Amino acid sequence: MTFDAERVYTTLLPRFGRRLRLHEPLARHCTFGVGGPADLWLTLETRDELIWLVRRCLAEGWPLLVVGNGTNVLFGDGGVRGIVARMALSDYRLAEQEDGSALLYAEAGVSWPKLLNELATQGWGGLEFGPGIPGTLGGGVVSNAGAHQRELSQVLEWVEVLDVRPALALGTARSVADGESRPQADQGHSQTEEEDARVAAPFVRRYERAELELSYRHSRFRAGRQVTFDERGYPQPAPRTLIEPAEIILLLAVRLHRDDPAKLRALIEEYRQHRKRTQPPQPSAGSVFKNPPGDYAGRLIEQVGAKGLRCGRACISERHANFIVNLGGARAADIAALIREARNRVRERFGVELELEVELRGEWEIA
Ligand SMILES: Cc1cc2nc3c(=O)[nH]c(=O)nc-3n(C[C@H](O)[C@H](O)[C@H](O)COP(=O)(O)OP(=O)(O)OC[C@H]3O[C@@H](n4cnc5c(N)ncnc54)[C@H](O)[C@@H]3O)c2cc1C
Repeated sequence: MTFDAERVYTTLLPRFGRRLRLHEPLARHCTFGVGGPADLWLTLETRDELIWLVRRCLAEGWPLLVVGNGTNVLFGDGGVRGIVARMALSDYRLAEQEDGSALLYAEAGVSWPKLLNELATQGWGGLEFGPGIPGTLGGGVVSNAGAHQRELSQVLEWVEVLDVRPALALGTARSVADGESRPQADQGHSQTEEEDARVAAPFVRRYERAELELSYRHSRFRAGRQVTFDERGYPQPAPRTLIEPAEIILLLAVRLHRDDPAKLRALIEEYRQHRKRTQPPQPSAGSVFKNPPGDYAGRLIEQVGAKGLRCGRACISERHANFIVNLGGARAADIAALIREARNRVRERFGVELELEVELRGEWEIA
């Protein structure tokens, strides 16, 4: 896949100005603090910008990866080819319902911890379990984020997504048929092709909660995108499509209930303090592995003596064995090596196959 970053930069600059950056280190945009450059980095502030960009990427064959706050991703040391766009769409509003509850309509880029204090002050409960989840609400839907025995699925009503799958399928069908590597949107198609393209254009659709396949750290948006492991146990990112993810969350509706502001603030503070005591202060992406049924990944990793293990400047935290931390200057490959080591040891000793909670993105060169 070739992508002329300088040319695309020049094309997009008039529209996005300083929100567009060339060869931007991804280490600046994820909480692990690792990752090579994105060819282009872009912050998106409105739904129209996102839709415009997706259409343009489809037409031109530019690879696009959409992310949130970068708190659950591990970018490879080789960076990411094409455009990486951060969802910074962050409007929200509350609609009080007749039964005394409220629906929160929030754009996907709203930061969970930032929103909490405002909701607590206004006496709206429902999301107060998330002060320690530093991501966006959209990113929260992807992994059905949760803490303190609560998860987003318990309050989520529906989400609106930009569905790019038909357009991608059409692009693939054309590539196969014509030996082309990208949809040729502007090169004199027949009427049927034009019609195909119109039908396959990205469109906004809504999924009700029951359609989202929400379970422990899982949603329909993660299906088919799981990290796999090679025969040596190194993690491998899921294969990439031109527009990734193919369903981009735009908006979500969350059910809130009336609660005492003082009680909500006290709960938020209690959860914050608990985090401070139990989680490491160094850069990380939270829990690296999902807890296996009936157990804790951290307990298993501790049992196999991996706590404190180091590779380069990455370390399995002494405070919480399911956290890998960046001691300053770690590489993504160091973190991958620790993932491999912890997972292999747990498999050998307990026969448990730990699954990754963190998602791998970008270019990986694992020795
Ligand atoms: C210190 C720390 C503590 C944490 N504690 C918790 C915890 O207690 N519970 C918990 O569940 N998680 C926890 N996390 C993990 C993380 O905060 C959550 O998974 C969060 O929901 C990720 O949101 P994000 O916006 O950062 O997503 P990102 O990391 O930016 O992205 C994650 C994935 O979602 C995709 N994505 C992001 N936005 C969209 C969108 N709008 N549409 C479609 N796909 C999208 C990205 O492509 C990527 O594949 C913790 C992380 C840290 C650093």
